[in-house]
Amino acid sequence: MEKVSTMFTNEQVTKRIEELAKVINDAFNGENELIAICTLKGASLFFCDLVKKINVPLKFEFIKLSSYGSGTTSSNKFENVSLNLPDLSGKNVLLVEDIVDTGNTLAFLNDYFKNKYNLKNYKTIALLNKPSRRKTTIDADFYGFEIEDKFVVGYGLDYDQRYRNLDYIGELSFE
Ligand code: 5GP
Repeated sequence: MEKVSTMFTNEQVTKRIEELAKVINDAFNGENELIAICTLKGASLFFCDLVKKINVPLKFEFIKLSSYGSGTTSSNKFENVSLNLPDLSGKNVLLVEDIVDTGNTLAFLNDYFKNKYNLKNYKTIALLNKPSRRKTTIDADFYGFEIEDKFVVGYGLDYDQRYRNLDYIGELSFE
């Protein structure tokens, strides 16, 4: 049986997102445009809450790129890549991720953005960081929380497409 135990409450996540928004506002202070890119589906709830607190004039883009099947282990094969972005050359870009696990996804996206566009400023933010699982030297610029090697769901993160709507972050276990 699946069981979800709370790791970070809604209050903790909300408070942390407010802190992160301040950091982002400082990082892009004075800029007249920021393109915030949400990686679907996992970053969706984090993205929506974060952008509401950003005070730099902002535009949204959404990309979809998934390396997980229906299990709890990562692969570095990307499926359903749908990037469809406008020309971002000369733009300020904030890439919003759900979690950096092995780092393969972020490594792929960093290469993609850096090779394809001549960005003015590129920053990456992830709600969660699982450094013990890293298989690359990649790091996001900003994180919400660092966690141990646990499989988490909620706040956009799924297990087999379920649990994304939980308003907290929980650890999934099987009993
Ligand atoms: P990567 O291994 O490339 O850093 O992460 C790939 C993707 O795997 C993440 O964007 C996320 O969608 C998913 N992922 C990694 N760890 C977890 C986890 O603990 N829970 C859930 N639900 N997804 C995860």
